[in-house]
Amino acid sequence: MSWRYRVEFFILLSFAVMPRCFGQTDASLRTTDTELHFTADASAPRLTTLSVPGEPPWTNRASEALIDGADIGDDHAPLHWSFNRDASQITDQRVAFVYESASPHLRLTWEWRIRQDFGPIEHQVRIENLDDKEFWIPLQDSLAFDWQIEPQSPLDQLFVEKGADSPSNVGTHEASLTDGYKWTGTSSTYGDTDKRDPREIIPWTLVGRHDTAHTGWYAGIEFSGRTRVTVHREKDSLKVALGLNPDPGPALTRLLPGESFESPIVFLGGFRGGPDGAGNVLRPWVRAVLGNPLTWQNPDYPYVVNNSWGGGMDVNDEIARRMIRDAAELGVNMFHVDAGWFRGVGDWYPNPQKFPEGLAVIADYAHQHGLKFGLWVDWTQAGLSTEHGALNARDPRVRDWMVTDIPKDWQPEPFKGQTIDLGVPEARQWAQHETERIVSDYHLDMLEHDGYLVAHGCNRTDHPHAAPDPLKICVYKDWGSYFVDSTNSTDVSYHAVRAYYDIYSKLRKDHPGLLFEICNDGGRMVDFGSAAHGDYFSITDTYDPLSNRRAFYDTSHVLPAAMLESYVEKWPVPRIENFRYMLRSGMMGWFTIMLDTSSWSAEQHAAAKREIDVYKKELRPLIRDASLYHVSPRPDGVHWDAMEYWDPHRKMGVVYAFRGTVENENTHAFALQGLEPSKRYRLRFFDRTSPDRAATGAELGKGLKVTLPLANSSELIFLKEEGSD
Ligand SMILES: [Zn+2]
Repeated sequence: MSWRYRVEFFILLSFAVMPRCFGQTDASLRTTDTELHFTADASAPRLTTLSVPGEPPWTNRASEALIDGADIGDDHAPLHWSFNRDASQITDQRVAFVYESASPHLRLTWEWRIRQDFGPIEHQVRIENLDDKEFWIPLQDSLAFDWQIEPQSPLDQLFVEKGADSPSNVGTHEASLTDGYKWTGTSSTYGDTDKRDPREIIPWTLVGRHDTAHTGWYAGIEFSGRTRVTVHREKDSLKVALGLNPDPGPALTRLLPGESFESPIVFLGGFRGGPDGAGNVLRPWVRAVLGNPLTWQNPDYPYVVNNSWGGGMDVNDEIARRMIRDAAELGVNMFHVDAGWFRGVGDWYPNPQKFPEGLAVIADYAHQHGLKFGLWVDWTQAGLSTEHGALNARDPRVRDWMVTDIPKDWQPEPFKGQTIDLGVPEARQWAQHETERIVSDYHLDMLEHDGYLVAHGCNRTDHPHAAPDPLKICVYKDWGSYFVDSTNSTDVSYHAVRAYYDIYSKLRKDHPGLLFEICNDGGRMVDFGSAAHGDYFSITDTYDPLSNRRAFYDTSHVLPAAMLESYVEKWPVPRIENFRYMLRSGMMGWFTIMLDTSSWSAEQHAAAKREIDVYKKELRPLIRDASLYHVSPRPDGVHWDAMEYWDPHRKMGVVYAFRGTVENENTHAFALQGLEPSKRYRLRFFDRTSPDRAATGAELGKGLKVTLPLANSSELIFLKEEGSD
């Protein structure tokens, strides 16, 4: 080829390529763990690649599937999206590609945001109605992609269940992603109450390659409504979708003029070092991005708590004062009054027979003893009390806030009633005032929410959410409450959850330092949206040592340990070793004692005091800040299990070791992680079950030997790098 000919060829080629280049906008965002590249095509945006820095990228071949139609009355209008470059924004912290539809006039913003210089990157889709008409639109997924993969490449998936009711026998699922693999994980606030979803997941999943650095990606949803995650592998394709649950469909949501639909925020991140490597980035990210800074600034967070449920519904003024005195003597941080204090369900005033002087005096009594004061309230539940201020399901004003008409013979349970639909503006306003009153009048430092807070489908046609499909309504009763299943269930949850977030955001603003416990029937509301609006979770509704350890093992893959509350309840403890095992099974995160401590022997009292002391002085700093390693298989109550905390900054850590009922295995070795093979570490056995000694990181990486001669016993082994103090 002559020089001249080559120049002409180059010019021709440039003309062929340039128009396409000019019609397309590319962008990227980067944290220390995650690199994402994006392309704005003419009619849809696309996540093009995800990379763990230094590793081969994951390449996406699908554009984001944007909703393609809207209903106006009985008419259906197709949507044609086109990229609006002038309205789009690209910085090194944020990429927002804007698409518009001319008729109907809608604007869609496809946004990615960096919230910290490490960890995952957040994403959300917002659809704004710029028209002068009302539309009904299908649910826009938060994120969907289709990775191009090698057909035979080995891939693994990890997902974890909520500890709702009782942790199941599996809890942490590790699946091999073979050809044809198809999986859907769902999350709502109902757990096994929802007959379709027997076990719910924390809305998050992780997929890893079989490479030497154990890399991969994970994604999660920051929303407490009905959501789902799907993963489908077929030949060279790995399709993933995250967002509101479109089943049962057709699921629609209303868009009034000027109103916006916001898909649940999702996050997408890369990782190294397998699931624990992912967790050791995600947990600090959740703390930094979703956590309440004021909560984490409190050096006493997470608290040691004494909860009144050890005596059930019987709590009264005298019992509460006795428990407060004993809690103060034990060194507890907070006294927490559980159910049983109120006049009735929906009637959140102190029962005058039990608390003749009211509840504020009890809070003040706790404060005088150096304790914080927390209170259980089922504040979305209506009952039948006719007292002034009560939420009465028969009140004509309240009746329309219920999800369905309540039969004439209905009675609430002792501490459960009928959930109101918080998505109704008047209901939300009532709840805002009521929670505000409770926090102020009873001098609260912590408000625990329990019961079903989010309505589960709704029969009403005059609420802001979509009406149910009259041919697909199922009404059923569980635990004294009525539930509705229909095509509007997801939209009902969308509105109710946003109202709940608004209520708690305002309470937080008006009461700085107030803590929120997310309970929702024990472990049914464990998700990243709750993590952004509350301070800690009740992670299961079953409180024996094994259930507490199992729920912690599962949940701690994705959420900061300090946010994970275990309630420790009465359990057979013939020996003091069993007593310590029981306490420590609930001491790996937020530690709540739910026992009548006045029934303890002097020996148990002294042992508990020592455990609380070591929790506050040595364990709590690690629970807050250290990396966490799951150094054994999931607890089964028979074999040995352990968790390791290691703080690479303070160069110290701890191993919680538990022996189940296994016979003939008095010594067990746990391979520790996060240590440097050439460094030496001092080992301190807290119960002196072995002499203190030193060992190299290499030796501990092979196995830390622990000897416990008794079934259902435990040890705390503290680690400190030599020469680090
Ligand atoms: Zn409703």
